[in-house]
Amino acid sequence: MDTHYDLGIIGGGPAGYTSALHASLKGKKVVLFEKDEIGGVCLNRGCIPTKSILYVSEIYKKVKEAEKYGIKTSSPEYDYHKVLERKNGIVERLRKGIELALKNAKVDVVKSSATAISQTEIESDGILYNCDEIICAVGSSPKIIKGLEFDGEFLLSSDDVLNLTKLPKSIVIIGSGAIGIEWARIFSNFGVETIIVELAEHLLPIADIEVSKRIERIFKSQGIKYYTNTTASVKDKMILLSNGEVINPEKVLVAVGRTPNLIKKIKGINYIGDVKGEIQLAHYAIKQAIENIDGIKFDTDLTPSVVYGTPEIAWIGKREQDGEFKKSLILLSALGKAQCDGETDGFIKILSKEGKILGAHIVSPEASALIQQIAIAMNNNISVKNLKEICFAHPTYSEGIFDCVQKL
Ligand SMILES: Cc1cc2nc3c(=O)[nH]c(=O)nc-3n(C[C@H](O)[C@H](O)[C@H](O)COP(=O)(O)OP(=O)(O)OC[C@H]3O[C@@H](n4cnc5c(N)ncnc54)[C@H](O)[C@@H]3O)c2cc1C
Repeated sequence: MDTHYDLGIIGGGPAGYTSALHASLKGKKVVLFEKDEIGGVCLNRGCIPTKSILYVSEIYKKVKEAEKYGIKTSSPEYDYHKVLERKNGIVERLRKGIELALKNAKVDVVKSSATAISQTEIESDGILYNCDEIICAVGSSPKIIKGLEFDGEFLLSSDDVLNLTKLPKSIVIIGSGAIGIEWARIFSNFGVETIIVELAEHLLPIADIEVSKRIERIFKSQGIKYYTNTTASVKDKMILLSNGEVINPEKVLVAVGRTPNLIKKIKGINYIGDVKGEIQLAHYAIKQAIENIDGIKFDTDLTPSVVYGTPEIAWIGKREQDGEFKKSLILLSALGKAQCDGETDGFIKILSKEGKILGAHIVSPEASALIQQIAIAMNNNISVKNLKEICFAHPTYSEGIFDCVQKL
C-alpha cells in the first residue's frame, strides 16, 4: 500500500473537502481522513439540516396565517417525522454529491480518525501516512459551560436538538447567536413556547445594535419571550434566572458558542476552518481552503454573516457601534415588494464614509442575497456614486439598496 501523498487532510467538512477538491485539480495526490460523515458539521449537523427544518417551519407558520392573504384553510398540522425524513434526504443527497466529487477527483478518502504526529506524518488505524503537506481541518464542537453540561435529554446541544423525534411543548434557549436565533424561530414557528436567555445587553449581540433591537421587537410581536442581561443555571430540571425568576421548560438548548476541536498545534501544519477559532462560518472555511490551495486571497473583514428565517438578517463590514459613519436606512414598509409580500417589518441600512461603503445591515426577506450585492460592491471599491448609476429592477427588495444610497 502506497502511503505517500502530496497532501494529507484531516477533517472532511467544508474546509477539508474544499481543500481536497482544489488540490486534486492542481494534480496533487491527496488523502482525506474523516472519522464521521463527509460534509462535516455544516452538512450533517449545522447549516443544511437546520435550514431545511427552518424552511418547513416557515411554511407551516405561513399556512396558519393564510387567512390574512385571503386564503381559507382548515387547521393545518405538521408531521415532524416527515420533516426529519425530508431533512435527512436533503443531507444524504448533498453528501453523496460531495463523495462523488471526491471520487471523481481521485481523492483517497479514509473513513477513520487520524492524528498528525509531525509536520509530514499522519497516523490512522495504526498506519503511518507520509505527506509532503498536511492540512488540519478538524472543526469545532458545541461549547460546554460549567453547570450547563449537556445530558442529551434535558440540556441539549445543537447536535442533540437535531436528534429530537418530537418537538417539546416548551423550550428555553440559552444564547442568542445565530444558532439560538434560528432554533428560536423553528420552535416558535411550530408553536413551541420559546424563551431565550441572553447574557449580553441585546439579542444577537454580534450584530449591529439597530439590528439587535429590531429582532427584539420582531420577536416580541411573534410571542418569542426573551431575557437579556440575564444568566441561567439549572436545578432539578428548573431554570433559575439571575433576576430571580424560575422557568420550568420541557427542554433546554444551550447554544453559547463553539470550541475548536484541537488540543495541540504542530508547527508547519496548516490549520483552517472552525478549528482556527476565528470566524466560524462555512463560507469562511471554504474561502480559507481556496486561499491556501490556489493563493486566491480574500478580505476577511468582508465576510458576510446571515441568520436565517423570516425576516432574514444579514450584515457585512462595520457596525454602527464601531465608529462614526454616515448612515442611511430605508424601512421595508417603503418598498412596494415588501408591501406586496406582507413583509414590512425590517430595514436596509448602509454605513459610509466619504462616499465609500463601509458596512451594511439588513433585516429583510432575501437579506442573504441582498448582502452579496453589497459584498461585491465593497470588495471592488464600488462607491456610493457608482451604485447611484446602477438601474435596479422594480418591485424588488434590492431597490432598498438603491433608495438607501440616494441619501448618502
Ligand atoms: C446548528 C449550526 C448551524 C450552522 N449554520 C451555519 C450557516 O447557516 N452558515 C454558515 O456559514 N455556517 C453555519 N454553521 C457553522 C458551520 O457549520 C461551520 O463553520 C463549518 O462546518 C466549519 O467547517 P470546517 O470544515 O472547519 O469544520 P467541520 O464542518 O466541523 O468539519 C470538521 C470535520 O472533521 C472531522 N474530524 C474531527 N477530528 C477528526 C479526526 N481526528 N480525524 C478525522 N476526522 C476528524 C469531523 O468529524 C468533521 O466532519 C452552523 C453550525 C451549527 C452548529
